[in-house]
Amino acid sequence: MGKTVSIIGGGLAGISAAVYLRESGYDVRLFESTSKIGGRTFSYYDAETGLTLDNGQHILAGWYENTFELLEKMNKTPDLNMSQNLHVFFKEKNGNELEFFAKGDEPFLSIAKGFMNYPPLTYKDKFKLLRLREMIEIDFSERLKGKKLSWLLDYLKQTDNLKKYFWEPFAFAVFNAPPEYIDAELFYNVLVKAFEYPTAFSLVVPGESLSELFCVPFVKYSEGKIGLNLSSKVEQIEIEANQVKGLKMENGDYITSDYYVSAVPFYNFERLFTEDSFTAHFGNYKELKPASILSVFLVPEKMPDGFNNKYYFGMAGIIDGFSQWVFFKDEYVSVIVSAPEYTIAEYEGMTKETVCEMVEKEIRNYFPEFKNIKFKKIKYFREKRATFLPVTNNAASRIDSACNVSNLFIAGDWTNTGLPSTVEGAVTSGRKCAELISGS
Ligand SMILES: Cc1cc2nc3c(=O)[nH]c(=O)nc-3n(C[C@H](O)[C@H](O)[C@H](O)COP(=O)(O)OP(=O)(O)OC[C@H]3O[C@@H](n4cnc5c(N)ncnc54)[C@H](O)[C@@H]3O)c2cc1C
Repeated sequence: MGKTVSIIGGGLAGISAAVYLRESGYDVRLFESTSKIGGRTFSYYDAETGLTLDNGQHILAGWYENTFELLEKMNKTPDLNMSQNLHVFFKEKNGNELEFFAKGDEPFLSIAKGFMNYPPLTYKDKFKLLRLREMIEIDFSERLKGKKLSWLLDYLKQTDNLKKYFWEPFAFAVFNAPPEYIDAELFYNVLVKAFEYPTAFSLVVPGESLSELFCVPFVKYSEGKIGLNLSSKVEQIEIEANQVKGLKMENGDYITSDYYVSAVPFYNFERLFTEDSFTAHFGNYKELKPASILSVFLVPEKMPDGFNNKYYFGMAGIIDGFSQWVFFKDEYVSVIVSAPEYTIAEYEGMTKETVCEMVEKEIRNYFPEFKNIKFKKIKYFREKRATFLPVTNNAASRIDSACNVSNLFIAGDWTNTGLPSTVEGAVTSGRKCAELISGS
């Protein structure tokens, strides 16, 4: 067997590093502090409803190339609802339905066609869209340094209608934040990726739970190949003379290997080191600010007839609501509220019950089909640190995978991938560490 690598953290970044390192012939051990694999992508059995629920509905995108490749490497044939085109339904308060359908093979043309036929847009709105072409065709990235997405939309003279009916829902879906909290450069990186090839900008909704999609395949892949250690918390990474000497484990064990990959989230990184060694090696680091995601699961006595098939992959965007996206499953409705602590002034004083009542009311207003249907159970789940807030000037927080500790590499959705806090960001970071180790 080849050289040894110890990976700290079993989220998608750690999983990706483990698979790519193993494929390159390394002897890999992964240490995960909790009793489950998957990190921020997991599903749980809820005894009260008898349902398996995700910690929050995840949407993937056509441009998630590293994610799809990782699934292939783990021999997983995923159940993904992915269309050739971007096809989304939006709903308004009065139940009015708006369809955005970008048909065709040429990315820019099909999106343009989607906008042309999008009911809420006026001629003026559509005319302003021409400015977008300028952004894709000219290398715009330098001009965006330190600027917010809200600045960029104003600069491109995007109208209030365009913001409300397209850019804001899109920002929440990809960045879990409204435009005033989004770094324009980060947004530009995603836009460029989304226009790379015809299917790149399509939305992808998993047809199975997050555990079935990512965690079970990884555990199967690991059998006989990767040393998987659950409930194994790394207390400290011990560094001497710019080299990791070993890992002090919470249970008293001491682990040594040739290489080490940290794949913990941004809020756990600093505490892996002593104060002195952290200052010596990551002195400029500034911890990112988190943003939460709140999921409300409504279990109706019965779904309205034919409802699940009505919307594209059972998904609809909410215009001007408390929530932003709704997903219809066979037995329940999953409603997503993105980063309410940054977007809803009264949020901090709200109880879970108030939130559930508001969401229930909203669903009945936006989808009149539910007006007379009773919800037998309503469940609330909040991930307080679901993503990092993608604000400008995050450079000191998004550190590189390689550092001045020669055998230590850093992965995680928060590292310097140029991507927002996403599944693809996490997978890309893990792969990057594996490539750096293989090439070192
Ligand atoms: C509700 C919700 C909805 C989301 N929606 C989307 C979406 O629609 N699309 C999308 O692309 N992304 C979405 N995301 C973001 C995506 O899930 C994350 O970006 C990604 O899963 C992060 O993976 P990671 O491996 O970097 O970190 P994590 O998943 O946080 O994994 C880190 C792991 O390290 C472990 N760990 C920490 N400290 C230690 C230690 N000392 N020793 C050992 N192990 C340790 C943790 O227990 C954890 O398992 C969503 C996230 C949430 C929470």
